[in-house]
Amino acid sequence: MHEPADAPPPAPHENHHTRTTDQGRFSIARCNCGWTGPARRARSKAREDANAHTQARNPT
Ligand SMILES: [Zn+2]
Repeated sequence: MHEPADAPPPAPHENHHTRTTDQGRFSIARCNCGWTGPARRARSKAREDANAHTQARNPT
């Protein structure tokens, strides 16, 4: 895995910070807690996965 050089360091687990990464044709949502979503062909889908993860883990 190659991470972008400007990626922020992982934060403490008090919050779930997601981002999407591209792998070839696919976009994958990732979280600083170690969670990784399924590979999606559309980045918007990966973002939906990320939003679902944060809402499930960070009820507000
Ligand atoms: Zn998380």
